[in-house]
Amino acid sequence: MSRYAEPMARLIEELKKLPGVGTKSAQRFAFHILRASEDDAAALAEAVRGLKAGLRLCSICNNVTDVDPCAYCSSPTRNQRLICVVEEPTSIAAVERAKGSQGGYQGVYHVLHGTLSPLHGVGPDQLRAGTLLARAERGELDEVILATSPTLEGEATAHWLATALRSFSVRITRIATGVPAGSDIEYADEVSMARAMDGRREL
Ligand SMILES: [Zn+2]
Repeated sequence: MSRYAEPMARLIEELKKLPGVGTKSAQRFAFHILRASEDDAAALAEAVRGLKAGLRLCSICNNVTDVDPCAYCSSPTRNQRLICVVEEPTSIAAVERAKGSQGGYQGVYHVLHGTLSPLHGVGPDQLRAGTLLARAERGELDEVILATSPTLEGEATAHWLATALRSFSVRITRIATGVPAGSDIEYADEVSMARAMDGRREL
């Protein structure tokens, strides 16, 4: 079926599973790797293997980390009672880049790894919100900032979390819509993100 030798066809098939990589790019990458030195090819393979072996989710906030708890959760200089809830670990970088009126975010994070999406069968049980709700219940939190994206799913998720947190004595806020509607917050520039954090409102 494939006009490539089996090892080449196999690598192309694997590369095509990466986001934004079509057949043409996958072929280009595969031939580049074929031409590379034995050492470079081995280093790439080892980096891929090491990523899965060396990383895990933080047992407190679900951020991707090589140490547990992660650097944020174990930091003595960050406010452990202020939580910014994001959809994906990649969104943390957007919040960290934002330098608002208070000189940048000083709290910690909670990563949900997704949003509610009834169409795709993602309900509250599939979100990783358990440790956040437990911490709120134990009275460990002062404020939870809901920084999910201003998409339909992100808004539904923020609404669900706000309702779930309501019975605990914790301030619940939602970031302002300085982030363009319908976009993911990980792509927000630092000015928009800072404005969104500064302009957060009570829920
Ligand atoms: Zn953590």
